[in-house]
Amino acid sequence: MTRTVYLNGQYLPEDEAKVSIFDRGFLFADGVYEVTSVLDGKLIDFDGHATRLARSLGELEMGNPISKEDLLEVHRELVRRNDIGDGLIYLQITRGAADRDFAYPAEDTPQTIVLFTQSKPGLAENPMATTGMKVISIEDQRWGRRDIKTVQLLYPSMGKMMAKAAGAHDAWMVEDGKITEGTSNNAYIVKNGKIITRNLGTEILHGITRAAVLRFAREAQMEVEERAFTLDEAKAADEAFITSASSFVMPVVEIDGAPVGDGKVGRVAPRLREIYLDESRKAAV
Ligand code: PMP
Repeated sequence: MTRTVYLNGQYLPEDEAKVSIFDRGFLFADGVYEVTSVLDGKLIDFDGHATRLARSLGELEMGNPISKEDLLEVHRELVRRNDIGDGLIYLQITRGAADRDFAYPAEDTPQTIVLFTQSKPGLAENPMATTGMKVISIEDQRWGRRDIKTVQLLYPSMGKMMAKAAGAHDAWMVEDGKITEGTSNNAYIVKNGKIITRNLGTEILHGITRAAVLRFAREAQMEVEERAFTLDEAKAADEAFITSASSFVMPVVEIDGAPVGDGKVGRVAPRLREIYLDESRKAAV
């Protein structure tokens, strides 16, 4: 089946959707994105993603070319047209096409908006949730505004390749001895029953899954501490895990080749995963 994608107001077969070579997303990575998961044909945490999108655009002084209501409708229409049960919807908005110049183009330059689906049957039944994942640590060499969800993903991409070369699944990035986050996820450790994750700031992306998981953890009377933690602390933790829209909650059982705790999936991550999946399925739109 040819995928139907959305480009600037039109639903098109994927091979007919074309963007200018002058698009600033292509030339300057001058664009932002969101990834929303779909379970049983419904959108998970849509409101959070739409709200963060508006914030990213605002931080970059970019216009918002689509209302939240219309955005929801486009997401739903793509789910329908592509018959998505479980999967992901990728959204990207750029500052549009203009002759190459570092200065932003005129404000009335039409922005580019693209959405496409990725079908992932069984997205919530990833076997890694029971076996756990392995991460390596790498230096965080990204820019300083990681709270803005821009499409400049080259360093995270390099990080994934470094992880792959080391026989691991992902990399946790370290700055001044402290973990910032994973290449495409937020990072957590558990010590003596307490869930510890980096506090919000410009150093990390404000994960939508992170916000939901921390809320559920607190509602379940679990202790949460939002602060930076070191790589050494992570290696000495009882448990570790990540969160993201595409992996939900995923246990980490190895860091730099050494087991976390007893090297097996612990109790906290699976519990949070279950609560998160249950609650978000109920609230899905
Ligand atoms: N940090 C980074 C660097 C990411 O790329 C992502 C996923 N986009 C996350 C954290 C997790 O964010 P979310 O829960 O909103 O998917």
